[in-house]
Amino acid sequence: MPRDPENRLGELLARARDAALVDALLALLQWDERTTLPIGGRAYRAEQVARVAGQLHAIRTDPGLGDCLGELAESPLAADPHSDEGATIRVMRRDFERNAKIPARLVEELARETVLGQQAWAEARNRNEYALFRPRLDRILALKREQADTLGHGGARYDAMLEEYEPGATVRELTGVLEGLRLALIPWVAEAADACRGREARLLGRFYSRSDQEAFGVEAAARIGFDFSRGRLDVTDHPFCTTLGPHDCRITTRYDERFFPTAFFGILHEAGHGIYEQGLRTDWYGTPPGSFASLGVHESQSRLWENLVGRSRPFWEHHFPIAQRRFPSALEGARLDAFLGEINMVRPSLIRVEADEATYNLHIVLRFELEQALLDDTLSTTDLPAAWNAKYAEFLGITPPDDASGVLQDVHWSAGLFGYFPTYTIGNLLAAQIAEAYRASDRASDAEWSRGDYTGLLEWLRREIHTRGRCFSAPELCRRATGRELAPDALLAHLRGKFAQAYHGHVGS
Ligand code: ZN
Repeated sequence: MPRDPENRLGELLARARDAALVDALLALLQWDERTTLPIGGRAYRAEQVARVAGQLHAIRTDPGLGDCLGELAESPLAADPHSDEGATIRVMRRDFERNAKIPARLVEELARETVLGQQAWAEARNRNEYALFRPRLDRILALKREQADTLGHGGARYDAMLEEYEPGATVRELTGVLEGLRLALIPWVAEAADACRGREARLLGRFYSRSDQEAFGVEAAARIGFDFSRGRLDVTDHPFCTTLGPHDCRITTRYDERFFPTAFFGILHEAGHGIYEQGLRTDWYGTPPGSFASLGVHESQSRLWENLVGRSRPFWEHHFPIAQRRFPSALEGARLDAFLGEINMVRPSLIRVEADEATYNLHIVLRFELEQALLDDTLSTTDLPAAWNAKYAEFLGITPPDDASGVLQDVHWSAGLFGYFPTYTIGNLLAAQIAEAYRASDRASDAEWSRGDYTGLLEWLRREIHTRGRCFSAPELCRRATGRELAPDALLAHLRGKFAQAYHGHVGS
């Protein structure tokens, strides 16, 4: 036991804050790369990212950090694993042991190869030539297999990958949840798509100027709680949210002047991520009590604002008249029911990020299966496009006409993010459970939201999720906030209820 645990804790927190400082530099380099970096700057950026990633790894694996954690784990400060101090020691020790297994060479190679991989992916996607990306994907996969084997696993490399994004989640457990969801969704999606057949996105496909979309999106993001004095919105090809400091959260979107939902729901989604980041405790910035719980929990926040709130009738009772004033030529004289029907249309489609709430999860199950096969080497990258297309036909009844709208559509694999996709579905399930729990807490959510008042929900999220940081594991946080384990039923009930309201009650609208 250390003679002076308080002093040792101070040292631990200083080390955590030092790592957070370098991590934020890395995030800044990556944010810049994905928003404004000119093509000519890419190769040198790959070197910069590799160098800073190497420095960060050195800080996180310093033997002195291991000694400090070893001593503190024996001290009274570690007694309560969910207290701020206890969680800091417990979580940092877990991270240290994981990081220490990975050699610096592998960290730097992965950082470099994934920057180059993303560049090759972007070019391959633009030119619709999978062959331009395949050699890079092979290199990244080889490094990810090495990483999984170095970290160790009980036979499934995918478990080692999941641990990075969703600590404690396993292939076995996830397969059960995702399989249940898939079995319920495939027939339901077919039925819902039938009911939507013949309907067109007439209102959503009209002209919406980019500048008005930005102004409308910023206004809505601010209203739900995103603080623009501590964040900003920029343009990118593949929208994301990143944090560059305790008071600097960046969100991005892309605009389509002929399809309203792309930017608007993208902004609500990223603002949801940003609201979580801005709700973390700044006095614990860079340490477990001031960090997000898991990527699945992160995604629950974005999905909650995007779908459970942002596609609901009460939300648009307030926002539709504002939208009509902002976009008079597109929406003047339009009916709210027709607009709601269009933003909630269920239709199997090729692009995950544009998918409706119901079919979205089928896109995830499909990637979950392909990723496992790639990591286990039972599927080669040569056969990947054909395997991808076959799964789309099986799950959604459609086949991509080309690789740009098929296997090349997502940035994840080029960035080395294997094991990341399931966190999206975990987020969807948790968001539905959170909305259910919030309603059950005696809140008149419909009345609040139709007045444009989201403070009740925001306060609930701050209390139950944001300020708890990483002091509880994601499953424990889910149990405490929603009263039960994560399961598909709340999401399925939400989809059934909304669909019945949007279509069965308003046929012909
Ligand atoms: Zn997200």
